[in-house]
Amino acid sequence: MTMAVSCESCGMPLAGAEAHSLGDPAIPYCSHCAPDGKLQPAEERLERFTQWTMRQEGLDYSAAREKALAYLKSMPAWKDAF
Ligand SMILES: [Zn+2]
Repeated sequence: MTMAVSCESCGMPLAGAEAHSLGDPAIPYCSHCAPDGKLQPAEERLERFTQWTMRQEGLDYSAAREKALAYLKSMPAWKDAF
């Protein structure tokens, strides 16, 4: 059995079972991306990631959204979503 070592949605390292959604190592997403075990809708995830990028990097909304979109499109969970 291969375990995901990082969230397939956001890339956050999943160090142990407790970092996975629902504490289940079989779910390849973190608890932020899949609060109830299912991946959030793409638009919601993009919006949240945009807000996070704005805070982290001090970008305005459109710059942060562009960067967030480019990043999410590089992730396995979203490569066909946008
Ligand atoms: Zn995640």
